[in-house]
Amino acid sequence: MTTSPDSDARARLREAGLRPTRQRIVLARRLFSGPHRHVTAAELHAEVLREEAGVSLATVYNTLHQFTKAGLLRELVVDAGPSFFDTNTAHHQHFFLEETGRLVDVPGDRVSVSVLPPAPPGTTVSRIDIIIRVTGRGAEDGAAAPGDARTLE
Ligand SMILES: [Zn+2]
Repeated sequence: MTTSPDSDARARLREAGLRPTRQRIVLARRLFSGPHRHVTAAELHAEVLREEAGVSLATVYNTLHQFTKAGLLRELVVDAGPSFFDTNTAHHQHFFLEETGRLVDVPGDRVSVSVLPPAPPGTTVSRIDIIIRVTGRGAEDGAAAPGDARTLE
């Protein structure tokens, strides 16, 4: 049995309960066939336009939110700027490289929160996002392309 990026994307969409439309397949293939990445809607839109004309930014944005709702992506808001969509939905945190605007993964077991206030009445903590902001260019090794997710070990 052979698999192609398209059939992998189709299977992943079906497993998540999403109908595998042409545009969802194109986006899923770009997002999930390589290493984990953090991408904004505008970045992904620019990539997709190279292979498929006529896909609107709104479609990309809506699809990213559908993928997030289905558990395929995790949305990260760092600044007032555009959200990042993270293909790594496992427990982890992030460094934010302020000079380049990129995110670098930090394994979840490398960060701990020792004190938390009680959640407001009637609510429960669903997730804790920790963004560790760093300045300088020392964290960049020049090997990673924009949008590449790297994990510090
Ligand atoms: Zn990440």
